[in-house]
Amino acid sequence: MLILSVKATLTHRGAVLLGKYVACDAFDESKPLRVVTHAHADHMIGLQQSLRTCEKVLMTKPTKDLIDVMRSPLFLMGGFVETLDYGKTLQYEEERITFYHADHILGAAQVLVEDAEGTRIAYTGDFRVDGTPILDTDLLVMEATYGNPTCKRSFEKDVKDLLVSIVEKGLKHGSVYVFGYHGKLQEVMQILHETGVKAPFVAPERVFHVSRVCEQHGMRLGRLMLSEEREARELLERNLPCIAFYHMGSRSKVGRCGFRVYVSGWEFDSPCREIADKEYVIALSDHSDFDGLMEYVRRSKPKFVIADNFRIGYAETLAREIRKHFGISAVALPKR
Ligand SMILES: [Zn+2]
Repeated sequence: MLILSVKATLTHRGAVLLGKYVACDAFDESKPLRVVTHAHADHMIGLQQSLRTCEKVLMTKPTKDLIDVMRSPLFLMGGFVETLDYGKTLQYEEERITFYHADHILGAAQVLVEDAEGTRIAYTGDFRVDGTPILDTDLLVMEATYGNPTCKRSFEKDVKDLLVSIVEKGLKHGSVYVFGYHGKLQEVMQILHETGVKAPFVAPERVFHVSRVCEQHGMRLGRLMLSEEREARELLERNLPCIAFYHMGSRSKVGRCGFRVYVSGWEFDSPCREIADKEYVIALSDHSDFDGLMEYVRRSKPKFVIADNFRIGYAETLAREIRKHFGISAVALPKR
């Protein structure tokens, strides 16, 4: 186990180190390859530094396109970026690096490193277990966002219908504001579009451009207007039926008197909660709940697990539960 545990670790700056050459999701000066598993901020830590100093920065094409619109097209030009498709392998010295799909936001990847001894070292990144291929691993680094047995959603199946009915209810009052993070907002657009919700969609510039990238990569989101356009401004000012999608960070600034819906994973008791008049939280998550995390471990059959204790979540608890239920060695890193 000692030999295995030196083949991966998680640093105090949040970097997931796999094998001899790869650092995922945060900068690490000792590794020539930097991987960005997906375009959420807590997985792009120290990216500028990596661009300056790493030999290669690896990501999927959709992740690159998302970063281009979230930062600027110039940002990634500060280094050598190589895009890698799911299932394609990059050979670097004696190790092999392969990306696999992770059901999270557009472009999200799991990373598998196979070293010279044939050890399979993997990092899940963020994922929902249902749409994510489970990798056979010897050493597994995994996210631990909902790594506590209290974080179970037994209602996952009904959430989408509920979301649609709440939004439709809101549209009877006028404009509906949906707040969420990049990726999740586009998932909501897709759900509403696919269920035939006809009200126009409105989004501020960044959300708009992120949505366009999602469409370029195959998501179907329906008709979307920029919030600065005259027609969109009029709809919102006159509180007419439309659905406005804003980043969670804008929730104190826009639509304060409107009908508001937040999409959040941190809800376990019920799929929908009314927190104030015309204000709802819907439990739509892009992470596995506790059972999903445990299912991944069960099917992946690792000999050693590292739970991500850098990002928000329950890494200590998850590591303990893995030891208890499967008898597999598991630790939470970095130590706090
Ligand atoms: Zn994420």
